[in-house]
Amino acid sequence: RAKARERSSWQRFDIAMVEQVTKRLAIEKDIRKGLENNEFIPYYQPRVDIRTGRVVGMEALVRWHKADGTVGNPGEFIPVAEETGLIVQLGERVLREACRQTRIWHSAGMDGLRVSVNISAHQFRANLVDMVFNALDESGIDPELLELEITESTMMSDLGQTVSLLERLAGRGILTAIDDFGTGHSSLYYLKTFHINTLKIDRSFVEDILNDENDANIVSTVISMAKNLSLQVVAEGVETQEQLDRLREYGCPEVQGFFYSRPVPADDFEIYVRKTNGW
Ligand code: C2E
Ligand code: MG
Ligand code: MG
Ligand code: MG
Repeated sequence: RAKARERSSWQRFDIAMVEQVTKRLAIEKDIRKGLENNEFIPYYQPRVDIRTGRVVGMEALVRWHKADGTVGNPGEFIPVAEETGLIVQLGERVLREACRQTRIWHSAGMDGLRVSVNISAHQFRANLVDMVFNALDESGIDPELLELEITESTMMSDLGQTVSLLERLAGRGILTAIDDFGTGHSSLYYLKTFHINTLKIDRSFVEDILNDENDANIVSTVISMAKNLSLQVVAEGVETQEQLDRLREYGCPEVQGFFYSRPVPADDFEIYVRKTNGW
């Protein structure tokens, strides 16, 4: 009896596995086709100076404009793209397009806007430096206006290589940010060893900043620490006026979140920025 039960549970397990693998393979195939058809497009979310309310830059966040008219979010396809290595090609598209678009905005009088692009683990360990230098050359944007967002876990996996990659990027004047700061294995030692410019405080801390004393204390401590280390700091995921007020009280210089705008297509972003900055 126990045997029978065991076997049937294994069978169910097998079927679930096969289904999962099949689904992954289907997504992989779709991603390849999507790349061929140029279906991966960066949306932009504003980054705002908390004192002036002006837009100082934008984060490029990829969306998948599928042939069937639906729009896919990164959560659905970035993990598969990462596992299959397709992220290298996909990420390069996003980076080049974000740089090209930024250049167009600069030329159109939206001067000084910084662009942030997410770099996943696989991309970071691939031909990152060449890819980024090429995108800069091709677009002609000022390296100081490009920021790469890298998570803690990506940085921690090969410390020696991380240090040298960050040095090479910094050598060209490119900015780097630790994304989702506080959710990985942050170590104060690495904050002083790594050549980075910005800490992006993870949304999960901002979410509970009003109700959870620990989250509030963490956020205010990270902001002070960043200041003392001469790092820029951005709070992610600001959704309400109350959260914004609290961040202002803590001296947070820059913020990002649905309170200002969701990530939107380039045209909508331009309208938003022109209105907000009076351009
Ligand atoms: P992330 O870099 O931490 O980006 C922030 C995520 O939080 C975005 O989700 C954004 O839409 C969302 N967000 C921003 N403000 C708010 C808010 O106020 N409330 C809430 N609830 N959410 C907010 P998205 O666009 O779905 O991206 C998810 C993740 O996918 C990103 O996290 C990033 O790790 C990855 N990703 C996105 N685009 C790219 C890309 O081009 N390349 C790579 N490698 N990864 C990407
Ligand atoms: Mg990011
Ligand atoms: Mg983040
Ligand atoms: Mg994230």
